[in-house]
Amino acid sequence: MAKVLLVLYPDPIDGYPPVYARDSLPVIETYPNGQTLPTPEAIDFTPGELLGSVSGELGLRKFLEDAGHTLVVTSDKEGTDSEFERELVDADVVISQPFWPAYLTPERIAKAKNLTLAVTAGIGSDHVDLASAIERGITVAEVTYSNSIGVAEHTVMQVLALVRDFVPQYKIVVEGGWNIADAVKRSYDLEGMDVGIFAAGRIGRAVIERLAPFGVKLHYNDRYRLPAEVEAQYNLTFHEDIRSLVKEVDVLTVHAPLTDETKGLLDDELLGTMRRGSYIVNPARGAIADRDAIVRALESGQLAGYAGDVWFPQPAPADHPWRTMPHHAMTPHTSGTSLNGQARYAAGTREILENYFAGRPLRPEYLIVEGGSYAGTGAHSYAKKD
Ligand code: NAD
Repeated sequence: MAKVLLVLYPDPIDGYPPVYARDSLPVIETYPNGQTLPTPEAIDFTPGELLGSVSGELGLRKFLEDAGHTLVVTSDKEGTDSEFERELVDADVVISQPFWPAYLTPERIAKAKNLTLAVTAGIGSDHVDLASAIERGITVAEVTYSNSIGVAEHTVMQVLALVRDFVPQYKIVVEGGWNIADAVKRSYDLEGMDVGIFAAGRIGRAVIERLAPFGVKLHYNDRYRLPAEVEAQYNLTFHEDIRSLVKEVDVLTVHAPLTDETKGLLDDELLGTMRRGSYIVNPARGAIADRDAIVRALESGQLAGYAGDVWFPQPAPADHPWRTMPHHAMTPHTSGTSLNGQARYAAGTREILENYFAGRPLRPEYLIVEGGSYAGTGAHSYAKKD
């Protein structure tokens, strides 16, 4: 029987919700590329409940304990004295969400002698040291597509928030003011702007589709070119690399995984080649941007705005400069953990566990690392391209 260690974000400060704002979630039949939604044999939760916090337990306790497994749930994940690190020593399976990542560093993986499976409840497995997982033969899996559309929606929201300058206007209202000139002195229309999408995978493609009706000129870069009919449908300009992309856009959105190739990519030099007054929305990973270069570019006016919901590390410390830099519209890491997203990745996590414990293969699209190498989505999106 296995020991499953589940690391989740803490419950709401005023307690686990007894009621919710809405009574149900829309039923989604399939993802846009035809992939089916998670197919666990059963679920023990009501979609729409808060599942990603400690009391929600991703709805996994009954299923795991009925099968004789042990479930440990904690939000205490930092430092060698954390509950996570103490319980990790004999855990077989670790599950965590990117919003509250249980960093599986090489040192922690070395301590976790029994670990055979690391599941990302959500998308993005960079919090696991993938080289160590490959070396140790640990399977790394995530619930591909579970929250991609939610992230695309959040991206569109933040593009509009920056370009139209929503945040200061909201503050003026809350503070009792009505100075229209103050409210509009940095406010523009998105219509007609050049918008660049860096990485056109599931999220980037959904952002393209959602932004096209705004009458923008769309550009993109990805390691793999989209089909010609998709480029024609959205009038996309393909760029061979990010350097060419950023020079020709007013707004850049970022949707690549965090890898050795993308870490620190948005640095002083690259930002300096953008049009003055560009905007960046990065809901991919905080470490793709050089933290201080972003602050400098906002302070100098090279960037007119920066938004996104990903930081490094997470949770971000209280003095993280992105909390107070000018012209930002940051959120904590929430875009992929709406109540809809939680229902899908909780079901997907259960599907992964059911198959794993039964010795059945996991869906290739859920795989990042398996059998000592990148596999499935990992081979496409994380491994170095030959
Ligand atoms: P995906 O695997 O469908 O797409 C990733 C794309 O990135 C692929 O098309 C790949 O070819 C491309 N890519 C990889 N390296 C590249 C490089 N160096 N240059 C150009 N293109 C490159 O993944 P997705 O579902 O679209 O998610 C993308 C990322 O978004 C995830 O890896 C994760 O880090 C992040 N994410 C964030 C949230 C959130 O809540 N903010 C939620 C889900 C995913």
